[in-house]
Amino acid sequence: GAVRDDSSLRSVLETYRAVSIGGAILVALTFAFSVAGVVVSVHAAPQLVWFPLGAALTMALMLVLWRIGYRMLREQLAKAEMQRLEGIARAHRDALTGAFNRSYFIGELKRHVYTGAMVPMGYLQLDMDHLKAVNDGQGHAAGDAALLHLIETIRRVIPDAIIGRLGGDEFGIALIGQDNKRALGKLADRLLGELRREVKIGDRMTRLSATIGIAVAPFDAEGDVELMSRADLALYRGKKQGRAMALTYDHDMLVDDRHARSIMRELRGALLLNKIKVYYQPVYDVDGVTLRSYEALVRWHHSHRGVVLPGQFIAVAEQSDMIDRLGEAVLRQVCIDIDRLDAPVAVNVSPVQLRRPEFAERFIEMLGQAGVAGPRIAIEVTESVLMKAGGVETANLNTLRRHGVRIAIDDLGAGHASLEYLRSFAFDFIKIDRSHIAKLLKSPVDRAIVTAVCDVARALDVEVIAEGVETREQLEQLRRIGCNSVQGYLLGRPVPLAARSLMLKKQAA
Ligand code: C2E
Ligand code: CA
Ligand code: CA
Repeated sequence: GAVRDDSSLRSVLETYRAVSIGGAILVALTFAFSVAGVVVSVHAAPQLVWFPLGAALTMALMLVLWRIGYRMLREQLAKAEMQRLEGIARAHRDALTGAFNRSYFIGELKRHVYTGAMVPMGYLQLDMDHLKAVNDGQGHAAGDAALLHLIETIRRVIPDAIIGRLGGDEFGIALIGQDNKRALGKLADRLLGELRREVKIGDRMTRLSATIGIAVAPFDAEGDVELMSRADLALYRGKKQGRAMALTYDHDMLVDDRHARSIMRELRGALLLNKIKVYYQPVYDVDGVTLRSYEALVRWHHSHRGVVLPGQFIAVAEQSDMIDRLGEAVLRQVCIDIDRLDAPVAVNVSPVQLRRPEFAERFIEMLGQAGVAGPRIAIEVTESVLMKAGGVETANLNTLRRHGVRIAIDDLGAGHASLEYLRSFAFDFIKIDRSHIAKLLKSPVDRAIVTAVCDVARALDVEVIAEGVETREQLEQLRRIGCNSVQGYLLGRPVPLAARSLMLKKQAA
């Protein structure tokens, strides 16, 4: 191909060869005449034989020199050609790792990927976990060393792979002729295992980890672009599931992905068209009569699917900043509705929102703009968030609390927070998960858990709200246990504000 022919050098060689042939003919002719001269002069004038003889010898010497020159030139040209080829190869390789660069690697994939006649191919897309942390913590030299170690490990575990560096810490690994997913999965696991071994990076012993997505051609994909995007989808899944693993692409991933994309697209429209509504569910004192507060629950009024529950779209929204916009839309609506509600309102806050450094500021700003005092609002965060809370989450919670916003721990019991652990957080309510209330009468274990939570809450001086109370018997039991408040279908379902006002009027009448 293009790499091999180099016309300029070649033509120099050809010209030299043509000139040489012309020269050689001349030399041969002169040589012949000299020999004839020698023969003639031997007979006619022997004392002059040295002239043609000298000429003949000179010619012979010239011929030899010419030949040597040609050899030397050829060698020189061959060397130049080698250097040129190496330069091209270098230009196609990443300077640090020696892997092919992105464009050349994709070219190689294109060339090899199965298109009917060629052999099948396995493709691994690898993304290093936490390289940024290495770079930030130990400097870029350490980051480079980590990448080099990664590449060496790949070469050692999969010697016959074509390796390309696709971006900063993302690599493509192609295996020609290997399309057995199970074998590829095992190979990837072995690679991850090797990476987990301790190695000295910079001046520290570290273990590296990576996430890998696997796809094969022609089974999963027809072209190079499709093959890479399928592996990338599997990789993305792996990252979401906690990294440090190899996942093999399967068709369900694509279906889920398309589903999520279409929900995301529709949600964007729903926000613009005001189809995102807020319903309110009352929370009553355990006496069953006194209203304590409301929980705001989001609903999507979908044009053909009717009222869509948050379980259908919150998780998708959490994959992007859609969750922030959704959260703001809910809070904005609550701020409008709150004057017509006769009690404080609790809004649900996703763990993703709480991780944004500017979350609390923005929240307080919105309350300020609407003229809503902090204590009229509470937020509900799930227990699992607090378990994993880092600096950002804690800072957000503290800011909110400083402005009088109260904090509820939602779904207690669904996660694994120990009651002791909960002490380290400043919060105002505990909400006991619906699953415990549902089994309250039948399961002694659940009854024990609910009782324990109520006891601890009393000791910590926080309120307990039981969720999902559906029967009078459950309410009775909760009253005996010493729970403060209850929420559930027995006392009121989530309804829009208009329906709520109507109900209150009826009660008052
Ligand atoms: P959650 O915070 O645990 O909300 C309580 C859920 O229990 C609500 O479901 C409510 O309708 C339901 N529920 C209440 N009483 C009963 C009962 O007696 N029996 C039964 N079976 N269910 C009852 P919903 O509205 O479908 O919300 C589901 C989840 O979606 C919520 O769980 C919350 O985590 C999340 N969510 C709701 N609104 C928002 C929101 O505005 N933002 C965020 N980030 N998440 C929200
Ligand atoms: Ca809640
Ligand atoms: Ca809950």
